[in-house]
Amino acid sequence: MRSAEVLVASPGRNFVTLRVMTEDGVVGLGDATLNGRELAVASYLTDHVVPLLLGRDAHRIEDTWQFLYRGAYWRRGPVTMAAIAAVDVALWDIKAKVAGLPLYQLLGGASRTGVMAYGHASGRDVPELLDSIRAQQAEGFRSIRVQTSVPGIDKVYGVAAQPSTSGRYDYEPAQRAPLPAEEDWDTSAYLRHVPGVFEAVRNEFGPALPLLHDAHHRLTPIQAARLGRALEPYDLFWLEDCTPGENQDALRLVRQHTTTPLAIGEVFTTVWDYQTLVREQLFDYVRSSVTHAGGVTALRRIVDYAAQYQIKSGFHGPTDISPVGMAAALHLDLAVHNFGIQEYMQHSAATDEVFRQTFTWADGHLHPGEEPGIGVTYDDDAAAHHPYQAAYLPFNRLKDGTVHDW
Ligand SMILES: [Mg+2]
Repeated sequence: MRSAEVLVASPGRNFVTLRVMTEDGVVGLGDATLNGRELAVASYLTDHVVPLLLGRDAHRIEDTWQFLYRGAYWRRGPVTMAAIAAVDVALWDIKAKVAGLPLYQLLGGASRTGVMAYGHASGRDVPELLDSIRAQQAEGFRSIRVQTSVPGIDKVYGVAAQPSTSGRYDYEPAQRAPLPAEEDWDTSAYLRHVPGVFEAVRNEFGPALPLLHDAHHRLTPIQAARLGRALEPYDLFWLEDCTPGENQDALRLVRQHTTTPLAIGEVFTTVWDYQTLVREQLFDYVRSSVTHAGGVTALRRIVDYAAQYQIKSGFHGPTDISPVGMAAALHLDLAVHNFGIQEYMQHSAATDEVFRQTFTWADGHLHPGEEPGIGVTYDDDAAAHHPYQAAYLPFNRLKDGTVHDW
């Protein structure tokens, strides 16, 4: 590798991108964005990884991955794994460009004609939620995540502060401010309210529309079991992150009580975080992203492991995954046999000007396109208009002031 640069830009939100160039001038891009902790990964790459890449053979993807993972001695964690992911995706981009093929062809070729993607809907009350679902359907989504306000709670995760005026769903929890915003939470109020919301949605849209819901790590195992059971009549595609991800054993209890399919793993960074979950078949969908789980090389291993237990992919894909990370995910989605669904929240127009993309979106399905590589180019001139701005995800307090999972 002749050069490797870390590019930080904020076209509406912060993104960290690694751009690698080979001795022959072939350029590859990787996404290293870690929402709310972006500069830690930028420093990890600039100070500790870029100097190690110069002079290495860009085609030795596996060797470079193992060198960065095992060679650091300090393993795993979101900062380390986002940095490794950026290198990994940039090298896959380069290898596919040199081969003259879209990346999915190097991963075994297409297993399907397109990648089914789900969108996001939310409302401060049921009528607003139903309108939001209709707006997502008008945008082409055929599967929809449903989040709702809860009476008695001021700000709830996943609920846009106001209806979208652009058509694009633009909920962005990370606020541009020097300090993170404080939100509030009441699990009992949430558990009382959510089943009735899904009843209203099913009554309006019928039984066939795939519906998803994210509990965002906030419940105890027995609370999650109760919610999963209460939602069974509404036939969810999945219930996501019902308990904090660190405790794999929690889902054993949830699983004993409900047949609602479970998804987890957006905060996981390696296959080790899935070891018990997969072996005991405690969940149904892998929520990791290429960006946070060590790149295409490592996420492929996670979904291959999951495939042996009929567990499918459902990769994390809101706007904190840059178009580079999203494109890499689409190539993997298209290639792996045990694809389930892909999360997709459209990026802003400003983001799309910085990251030029070749993917297509039609009738609820994405396709990464046929350009050699991953199909994304970076516009330095557009990026120059959007310098980094400090932004943090919010945090939660209960009514008595106790910090709670956000
Ligand atoms: Mg989630």
